[in-house]
Amino acid sequence: MASSIQNNRVSAPGYCVCCRVCNMWCWRAFKWLPVLLIVSIVTWSYYAYVIQLCFFTIESTVQQCVYWVLYHILLMMFAWSYWRTIFADIKPIPDKYKLPDEELEKLLSAESEDAQRTILENFAKDLPIVTRTMSGSVRYCNRCVLVKPDRAHHCSICSRCVLKMDHHCPWVNNCVCFHNYKFFMLFLGYALLYCLFIMSTCLPYFIRFWKGDFGTAASAGRYHIVFAFFVSLMFAISLGSLFGYHCYLVANNRTTLEAFRAPMFRSGADKNGFSMGAYNNFKEVFGTSPNLWMLPVFTSLGDGIVYPLPQQDEDTESLLSSERWERWGERSRPFDERESSSYDEL
Ligand SMILES: [Zn+2]
Ligand SMILES: [Zn+2]
Repeated sequence: MASSIQNNRVSAPGYCVCCRVCNMWCWRAFKWLPVLLIVSIVTWSYYAYVIQLCFFTIESTVQQCVYWVLYHILLMMFAWSYWRTIFADIKPIPDKYKLPDEELEKLLSAESEDAQRTILENFAKDLPIVTRTMSGSVRYCNRCVLVKPDRAHHCSICSRCVLKMDHHCPWVNNCVCFHNYKFFMLFLGYALLYCLFIMSTCLPYFIRFWKGDFGTAASAGRYHIVFAFFVSLMFAISLGSLFGYHCYLVANNRTTLEAFRAPMFRSGADKNGFSMGAYNNFKEVFGTSPNLWMLPVFTSLGDGIVYPLPQQDEDTESLLSSERWERWGERSRPFDERESSSYDEL
């Protein structure tokens, strides 16, 4: 029987080193274009709002100050969250998940898929994993040569496995995963507020423009304000739908990938397999301290490797989850047990 696992450590032939390096740098530069586009739009919106609207259009000093202060607070929170999402410290999969050379040799020389499956099961027997592939075997990444922790997936753009992968986002040129999911949620939320604020404060001027009562044809500044209204409206619609969808995912403790394909456990696929109730799911991403919920500082619970599971009957799965909790408790005590009685039962 042909083996399904192949050696991916063989380098691609037919390319000289210079071409490879050149391609790599071109590709790296190309991936920053969406981020540059966002930064350019925000820079222009700053000019349109602060210079054209606040300084040259609004006459009341009180109104100018209120708009100026609110705008800068929203811009700061939005830029801070965006920065943290882009430059989040995405930690690699721990070494204990990586197959040593001798195990890899055994795996590659195995004569059947069943033999490969047994080798991976033996290797993973002490690892805290409960999810499986569709066929029931241990999840393995050919390219990174490792057993995938629960909820980890390989990103073909980043060329590595990432923990609790949600999706690869070109607008932040990074994977959205365990280490920056909170930042990503705040980025969407503050970007939405930023657009709604610009939209609502530019609306009266748009209405005046529509009625032919806003500046003269020669004043180019009014077009910036009208255009700012349209652009913020357009972004508010798309950001609102995306933010709403991710709120739904947080409430149900699902990643975007898991929403498309439910995670597979020994007992079968279960789309709610990691859900601990809406409030606990929210705390898993945003942490237990309400003071830090709205700030882009890392407060997500856990280590991205082991996740609490809903309480189950006395079967192997529940025994396994109890073991996992003990191990997790030893490592980091991620959940505040005083606040959450449901976690105490696990
Ligand atoms: Zn991988
Ligand atoms: Zn990625």
